[in-house]
Amino acid sequence: MKPMPPPGQVTLVGAGPGDPELLTLKAVRAIAAASVILVDDLVGDGVLAHARPGARITYVGKRGGCRSTPQDTIEQLMLDAARAGENVVRLKGGDPFIFGRGGEEVESLRRAGIEPAVVNGVTAGLAALTSLGAPLTHREHAQGVIFVTGHPQKDGPGVDWARLAESARDLRLTLVIYMGIGSAAGIQAGLLAALAPDTPAAVIERASLPAQRQCVTTLGALLQDLRAAGLGSPAIMVVGDVVRGVAAVHARG
Ligand code: SAH
Repeated sequence: MKPMPPPGQVTLVGAGPGDPELLTLKAVRAIAAASVILVDDLVGDGVLAHARPGARITYVGKRGGCRSTPQDTIEQLMLDAARAGENVVRLKGGDPFIFGRGGEEVESLRRAGIEPAVVNGVTAGLAALTSLGAPLTHREHAQGVIFVTGHPQKDGPGVDWARLAESARDLRLTLVIYMGIGSAAGIQAGLLAALAPDTPAAVIERASLPAQRQCVTTLGALLQDLRAAGLGSPAIMVVGDVVRGVAAVHARG
């Protein structure tokens, strides 16, 4: 019988928001050492320039209009490669543990007896407002930040936007909304229950990439302005007084 290869390793690597300069040194090292790389659709091409020649690279996202690979297939691919002794990197956009199912992937690997390593990345919610020169917290405008998904789990309870808006107002918190473009109308209506229409807001599409576009507006004009600017996914919406810090040069998008 053929001897079993020693089990390989799996590393979940945060690829950052797109700009390859925002990769961590750890991420670059892990990518360069990998024999198998499973890549999400939100990973910028420049990031893969660090892969070694001959590394087997598989796209598991929605590239070129193709359907994305089902989550359990991705998990199976990781497991099969690790069991075959490969050094597997699962490359995920932003940070592997901010949305994007990194938690589920880790749990499934653990169930199979593999403890993955995890390398942080710069999450899109951080890069988005920074790219416009404004901070997410500011002593005078916000004493905290909430990262929230605009696309909750199917059959899940959904986000109570009105309640979130109350907390943002009363506790002075910045709202950073991922995956919110498709439900922007509902998000805007919910937030307007407690936040004033002139609350500053920004939408940043493809933050940190050469194709980045944005609009800087108010909560009351959010939907109208993001449609007028033709913005779509992937984008981050930021709502709160900190948006006042956006450099004037960006204000028109
Ligand atoms: N793990 C990722 C988030 C995955 S969820 C992270 O930490 O960034 C996917 C959502 O992330 C997108 O719908 C969008 O809201 C956001 N996103 C990812 N990359 C982005 C980018 N370059 N610019 C703006 N939003 C981005």
